[in-house]
Amino acid sequence: MDEKLKCIESGFEQDLSGLKSISECESIRIKYLGRKGLIAELFQELAALPAEQKPLFGPRINALKNKLQQEITRKSAMFEQQPELQAGGLTAQFDITLPAVRGQLGAGHPLSLVLDEICGLFIEMGFCVVEGPEIETEYYNFEALNIPLEHPSRESFDTFYLHKKYLLRSHTSPVQVRYMEKHEPPIQIVVPGKVYRPDATDASHSFMFNQVEGLLVDKNITLAHLKGVLSVFAKKLFGPKIKTRFRPHFFPFTEPSAEMDVSCIICGGKGCRVCKQSGWLEILGSGMVHPKVLKAVKIDSKEYSGFAFGMGVERIAMLKYGVDDIRLFFENDLRFLKQFG
Ligand SMILES: [Zn+2]
Repeated sequence: MDEKLKCIESGFEQDLSGLKSISECESIRIKYLGRKGLIAELFQELAALPAEQKPLFGPRINALKNKLQQEITRKSAMFEQQPELQAGGLTAQFDITLPAVRGQLGAGHPLSLVLDEICGLFIEMGFCVVEGPEIETEYYNFEALNIPLEHPSRESFDTFYLHKKYLLRSHTSPVQVRYMEKHEPPIQIVVPGKVYRPDATDASHSFMFNQVEGLLVDKNITLAHLKGVLSVFAKKLFGPKIKTRFRPHFFPFTEPSAEMDVSCIICGGKGCRVCKQSGWLEILGSGMVHPKVLKAVKIDSKEYSGFAFGMGVERIAMLKYGVDDIRLFFENDLRFLKQFG
């Protein structure tokens, strides 16, 4: 009898560990606990035992019966709560020695990466990062920057107007004015931030984009300083082989003004679709701060001079990463964004 009890118990353990579904639980229950099951057989044999042996085995058979009932109930409940465990699923494959599955780490947005890199390069050259409001007044967005109301150049600055005299800034240049109002030269700042223009959205235009503005004002600042700082910046951003050139241009808030081109980073200057076969890519506008802008913030233009520049972050990110549609930066498609982690 003792032998038989042990035998049934170990047989049950084995059957239980091989269970793969809730229906198999039921067949095990019938096999052991059914009316003609193995436990029922034991009770029959118990009845045939000599009277002095009955108290010895009766409680053991009862205990075994309870144990089997509990185990089967526990197992069926497990299958009910976690159906994926059935049919040899996780129970069979689970290996606690495998390394844990790591949670996914987020990655920097490509525009943030480029913005940080640009600001970082200017910080290395002694510039501080300054920010300003995105809602501006006409005075800071236009007038203080030598763009009077009737001036024809105002037309090239399409602007989102808010209530009365407020607007969404169309460039980061108003921060120059705000900063110079409160600080004496020497001034050496870069201003990253969002700007807004009512442009129709297409592959290269967006009604919102990011700019980095720069301003340096001190005694005896010349065009040579401007060229030097911006050439070093271009080489650090795109690589030491990059060439730069300055083309005369017009901006109302700088005089003289220039656009800076870099040799095409795609074709190396030979000519391709991106540089429209010219071998050059325009990346920023710049110039010597207009005396009228200095006058508006009460800085004496006879004593001080300075240069300013501004660039579009999206354009630089598109060139740097070979992205041909600006909309990709704002659609938040994770398949796109994950490539920059
Ligand atoms: Zn090219």
